[in-house]
Amino acid sequence: MMKDLIKDQYGLLYSSELLLSIILLIFIIGVVANLSDGLNEKMLSEEEILSLERIAIESSDYLLNNPGNPENWQEDVGSDNGMVSKKIIPGLAIKNKNVENSEFYSESASDEMIMSNAISYNKLIKIKNNYDSLVDGNLFNDSVRSSMAIYPLNSEIKPIEMGYNFDDEDDNVNDNEIVTVNRTVKCDFYSNFVVYNFNDLELYGDDYNKDMFCNHDSNPNLTNHSNEGKSLWLCKNFRVYKESLDEYNYYLISDESVKNTGTYWILESLNRTNENKEILNQEVIDLNPFLMEDLENSSENIYSIHFNVLKNRIDDFKTVLVAIPKNMTDVLISNDEMNYDYFRVQDVNFILKAGYK
Ligand SMILES: [Zn+2]
Repeated sequence: MMKDLIKDQYGLLYSSELLLSIILLIFIIGVVANLSDGLNEKMLSEEEILSLERIAIESSDYLLNNPGNPENWQEDVGSDNGMVSKKIIPGLAIKNKNVENSEFYSESASDEMIMSNAISYNKLIKIKNNYDSLVDGNLFNDSVRSSMAIYPLNSEIKPIEMGYNFDDEDDNVNDNEIVTVNRTVKCDFYSNFVVYNFNDLELYGDDYNKDMFCNHDSNPNLTNHSNEGKSLWLCKNFRVYKESLDEYNYYLISDESVKNTGTYWILESLNRTNENKEILNQEVIDLNPFLMEDLENSSENIYSIHFNVLKNRIDDFKTVLVAIPKNMTDVLISNDEMNYDYFRVQDVNFILKAGYK
């Protein structure tokens, strides 16, 4: 009994000594590790920073000047379910589209031309939703951590940020070891859904000449829409196929300022003419119910839309006719993007940040 106790006392002494030295050891390791961490941070050489800078600049140039590889990579089904192919190299550039009255219309452009410094909003959102695989993995080969963002100059449009959060307070990344590339570019947002930009008449102002046939001018039973006096008529025709209504939602979208312009509008089909002009004071008008009425029993129809705008309020008349794919409509509504500004090409600051892991 007595022997056991002594033995225990020795044992206890022995083990508390061991415990103390283990604690001391852990403490020393901790201090050394911390020290060497600190040393490593300061040790990032000028060469390493230059090389990081080169990576960031070259990647930005690639992203902004190439549509990516394959160039329609955003249509890859994997980008919707997080199973992105390792072969995709993302790019943001827009291939020039030769569509009349669209934002990117240019008579001389060939279909193969890449818009310089113009990025696709759709591609940017695909990158945001698959950042780890497309950027960290495929673009940077997991060698750096990075973030991307666009900051629209128009404050009506929300910034988009993605990737690593370098601003995180808990993270001790030294600011000197992050490189930042900042470029002002154009972003298309939803301008490719635009069928007509009615405020193109800004370009003509008082000298605006109707370049399109208006059925009201040739039909003696209808009020003539020729332009004289304080207001002007802007009239456009467009064809809609019955199948289009299955795929697209047609909307008339106006800037908030339209409410102050005293603009009247008429929507009619050529066999259902209408004289009753209505005041245009809603920012979003769903046109599908109206279009549907004429397409119940026919496969296509021609519609005409007429605006009567006061000449001295033309600058505030900002209205577009858009056809939004049905599967996108809910996205735009839930993101609060059914606003006129989202259907215009906008200047944005593109920011790419990169740091070593
Ligand atoms: Zn007209």
